[in-house]
Amino acid sequence: MTVKKPMPGDLDPIETASRDEISALQLERLKWSVRHTYDNVAPYRAKCEAKGVHPDDLKTLSDLSKFPFMTKLDLRDHYPFGLFAVPRTQLARLHASSGTTGKSVVVGYTKNDLDNWATVVARSIRAAGGRAGDMVHVAYGYGMFTGGLGAHYGVERAGCCAVPMSGGQTEKQVQQIMDFKPEIIMVTPSYSLVIAEEFERLGIKPEEISLKVGIFGAEPWGEGMRHEIERKLGIDAIDIYGLTEVMGPGVACECIETKDGPVIWEDHFYPEIIDPETGEVLPDGEEGELVFTSLTKEAFPVIRYRTRDLTRLLAPTARSFRRIGKITGRSDDMLIIRGVNVFPTQIEEQILRDQRLAGNYQVVVTRDGHMDNLEVRCEVQRELSGKLSPADLQQIGKELQQRIKTIIGVSTKITVMEFDAIPRTQVGKAKRVLDERPKQN
Ligand code: ADP
Repeated sequence: MTVKKPMPGDLDPIETASRDEISALQLERLKWSVRHTYDNVAPYRAKCEAKGVHPDDLKTLSDLSKFPFMTKLDLRDHYPFGLFAVPRTQLARLHASSGTTGKSVVVGYTKNDLDNWATVVARSIRAAGGRAGDMVHVAYGYGMFTGGLGAHYGVERAGCCAVPMSGGQTEKQVQQIMDFKPEIIMVTPSYSLVIAEEFERLGIKPEEISLKVGIFGAEPWGEGMRHEIERKLGIDAIDIYGLTEVMGPGVACECIETKDGPVIWEDHFYPEIIDPETGEVLPDGEEGELVFTSLTKEAFPVIRYRTRDLTRLLAPTARSFRRIGKITGRSDDMLIIRGVNVFPTQIEEQILRDQRLAGNYQVVVTRDGHMDNLEVRCEVQRELSGKLSPADLQQIGKELQQRIKTIIGVSTKITVMEFDAIPRTQVGKAKRVLDERPKQN
C-alpha cells in the first residue's frame, strides 16, 4: 500500500484507515523488519537460531509471538553499536538513555529513520490540536536525551515554529513565553508545574498566558496532575509516550478530542502486551508489560523489545489505531526522577567505588510540591564506624553526590550513616527503594 504524503494540518490517511488496511500494512512491514534484523543484526539472528525460528515462519501478525524478545540487557551487552543493522556510514544521528548500570543505551538513526520520527511527532502535535503556523516552546532537554531534538524536528515537520528553549532557567522560560506568545509547550509534566508556579509567583493569571496546549511525557503522570496543569496554565494537557530504544517521544500520543490515552502510531510500532513472568501474549484490555516491534526502522530495529512499562492496550477511539492506558508501573526497578531514568544499581555502583562505604544503602524518593527528590542513605564500613567526624562523613557524602550528578545526571541528597544504621532485611530481597511519592491516579 502506498501512503500519500499529507499536507501539514491533514491527518495521515492511515490514521483513519480500516483495521484490515492497518493489519495488511503492519504485516508487510513486520516481515521486512524481522528479515532486516535477522539478516543484519548477528546477536538477534543467534537468538532466533537458538529458538529455532526463521523470518520465513512469520506468516501472520500473531506469528510474531514465536520470536525472541530483546531487552535493555541486549543493548548493554552489545554496547555501543552491536545491535545496529546498518554500517556507521549510513547513520545520521545517535541518541542515548540511561542503562541499568554505568553504560548508557545508545541508539542510531538513518536519514529515513529521522524522517519517520519527525512524521510521528508531527502527527502527535496535530493529535494534540496543533496546526501549521503555531509556535511551540520546547522545554524538553536537548542533547543525547531524545526529548528535545525529537520534539524539535516534529514541530518543524508539522509546519510550526520551534522555540528550542531546552530545560532549566525557569525565569527565562516564563519570560520567553510571555514575550513570544507560543500556543503550545512540550515539556515534562512535573516541570510544567514548576513553570506554572513561576507564573503564579509573578501574579500572571492563566488567561494572560498565550499557551493553549501542553504536550507532556517522559514520566508517568495521572488525571489529578492533568487537571492541576490544565487549571494552572489554562491549557489542554495531552499525554505523549515514547522511549529511546523504540524511537524517542512520539511512539504514541493522545488526541485532544478524547484525552483517553496515547494512540499508538501502529503503522510504525507494533505493540503487544505480555505477562512479564511467563512472556505469554495477553489479549487486548489485560494489563501486562508493553512490548514493541519497530516496523520501519533501519539503523536500530527492535523486535519484541520489552519496555518494562506496565499498561493495557485499549480499543481505537479518535483514530483507527489502538491506545495505551496509563502506565501503572514498571516490571523493573527503574525510577524516573525529574525526567531522568535512574536504576538503583547505578547508584550502588557509585557507592561501591568509595572503599570507605559499605554495600548497604537505601534510595528514598519523595515529592516536594511537584518535584521529585532523591535521597541516598548509605553507611561507612564497620571498621570506620564511630571513628569519623561529622565533617568527614559530610565530605564522603559530597564526593558521592558529585559522582552521581556527573555520571547518572541526577541531583541527590546524601546521608552517610554509621555502620548498621539502615535496617537489614531478614528474608528475601533487600528493600533498596522507598518510593514515598503520592500514588498517581
Ligand atoms: P523519554 O525521552 O521518553 O524519557 P527514555 O528512554 O529516557 O525516553 O524513557 C522512556 C521511559 O519513560 C518509558 O519507558 C516510560 O517508562 C517513561 N515514559 C515516557 N513517556 C511516558 C508517559 N507519557 N507516561 C508514562 N511514562 C512515560
